Amino acid sequence: MIRGVIAILGAWLTIGLALAQDESIDPEAFQERLERAIELNTTAPWRESQQILDELRPHLDIATPAQYAEYGYLEARNLTLSGDLAGGLDKVAALLERELTAQQKVRIYRLGANIAIIARRFEEAFSYLRDGLRLLDDPQADLDNAGLYGLASYSYAQVGELARAREFGHLALAEARRSGDPRELCYAEQQLAFVDKLDVRIETGRHFYQAAISHCLEAGDELSAGISESGLGDLLRLAGEYEVAAHWLASGLARLKKTEFESGVSETSLYFARLEMARGRPDRVIELLTPVLGELARGQTWDYLAEAHRMLGEIARTRQQYPRAMEHFEARMEAREKHLDMERARRIAYLEVEFDLQHTQQQLELFREQARVRELETQNERQRKRLRTAVYVLAGVLFAILLLLLAHATRERRRFQNLSHRDGLTALSNHTRFFELAERAFELTREKQVPFTLVLADIDHFKQVNDIHGHLTGDEVLRRVGARLRECFGKQGIIGRIGGEEFGIAIPGYRPSHIQDDLDELREVLKEARSGDEIIPVTMSFGVAVRRRHDSTLTQVRERADEALYKAKHAGRNRVVHADRGE
Ligand code: GH3
Ligand code: MG
Ligand code: MG
Repeated sequence: MIRGVIAILGAWLTIGLALAQDESIDPEAFQERLERAIELNTTAPWRESQQILDELRPHLDIATPAQYAEYGYLEARNLTLSGDLAGGLDKVAALLERELTAQQKVRIYRLGANIAIIARRFEEAFSYLRDGLRLLDDPQADLDNAGLYGLASYSYAQVGELARAREFGHLALAEARRSGDPRELCYAEQQLAFVDKLDVRIETGRHFYQAAISHCLEAGDELSAGISESGLGDLLRLAGEYEVAAHWLASGLARLKKTEFESGVSETSLYFARLEMARGRPDRVIELLTPVLGELARGQTWDYLAEAHRMLGEIARTRQQYPRAMEHFEARMEAREKHLDMERARRIAYLEVEFDLQHTQQQLELFREQARVRELETQNERQRKRLRTAVYVLAGVLFAILLLLLAHATRERRRFQNLSHRDGLTALSNHTRFFELAERAFELTREKQVPFTLVLADIDHFKQVNDIHGHLTGDEVLRRVGARLRECFGKQGIIGRIGGEEFGIAIPGYRPSHIQDDLDELREVLKEARSGDEIIPVTMSFGVAVRRRHDSTLTQVRERADEALYKAKHAGRNRVVHADRGE
């Protein structure tokens, strides 16, 4: 009843105090004080940083998620340092319920595993370790690998998997060296030294512990420096270097007492007691162990407790204090029993994690396999694309070649067509072509009702040209006549060589009077026709006919033109006869 009243009063008082303290605080000041707490947390006794945390507690509502995570982390650490390991683990579990970044999670897993191992709650320790290692599988997150590798090393060391522990320890050290952070170096070196101590590798262990001590001090981390000193002392005891060992153990114990790290103090006291036993100083052993028996039980470090009782029992026995020796023996057996239980639990937890990790490994393999398959598929697809492109290019080239061939063939066809249309000597249209074109012109002019004139021309006495000057000269004369005809009528008419020395001129849309002028002009020109240097004048007879209204075919016009030419020949040659003028 009274207790209840006191509790209520206490609660009111707390609320009152909280209200009195509830001055508002700006985010900047909050951050500043949190940073101070972070600093004190590793450089001063835990109470000092806890005091700041207590002051900040009423203002937690303004904390950002990152600040809240940091706050919780420090609280969990302080609970652990104060010896409330269960409280520390609860805090860790509560923190992990919240929204956290991968980096924050890794830190908290690491803390959780650390506390769990100190508390001998191996299942939890390995579970945190497993979750942490899983996070490392995500290459995306740029995580504090050194911390996690260190944690893995520590955990494996705890279950006696020393090769594994050393492997992870070196990974952690490599990461720490990359970052160059003295705190990371301190942790990694301490971890490797711890593995060496378990494996009784004196020289490397000594080296790592010494390096760790100087890095821990450089980082201002007295607590870790104290743990390393205590470890070094224990290692040197194994090497039989009792004096130096005593020095490091005393130094470590003093540092750990200063930081008020209870389980560190009790562990170091046990190490020190081992040394004093070896040095044959039973009073010092009793002095060291008696005050920490309670803490060893509270921390559930059963193996240490069993060892402490063994030492105390032995001293009692040599001093013939049998009832006391018996008490210690019983306490030792009880602690051993608990330790073995825990050892089994630890092994099972380890095996479970191993299985889990193997399972994860298998899954990772599967993912990798799938990635490989995907890679092969994309390669395949790439090859297929390349092939497709090659086929397209080949098809394009073939198509281009075909086009070229086609163009060539068309050109050739045109050339042959041209050749088949032309007279080889004069390059004028040949008989067939001329009448073809003349026919077309005839039809067109008929439709449009414009004049159409056909002239048939024949060189006079050409036979004689051949006879006198030879065929070659005759050919030359023919060529020149063709050229003159083209000069005179090329623009307005169609000209052809329609026989040996006969020519045809079809002129659409042109008046016969104009044609007469042009023919006269032509006849003048022909008088000066040359073959090389020789002047071989030739004359020509012309028969001219125009289309009449009722003419429906070219033949009708042609017949009249032919008749007119015949008349011209008969009338004495070298003249123009118009069929329609009745000459
Ligand atoms: P006419 O005034 O009556 O037309 O007398 P002509 O000698 O011109 O007529 P004819 O038809 O008797 O002779 C035509 C000559 O044209 C015969 C032939 O040797 C000559 N001839 C025809 N084709 C060619 C040719 O390609 N080259 C040469 N050099 N002579 C040709
Ligand atoms: Mg003739
Ligand atoms: Mg002739």
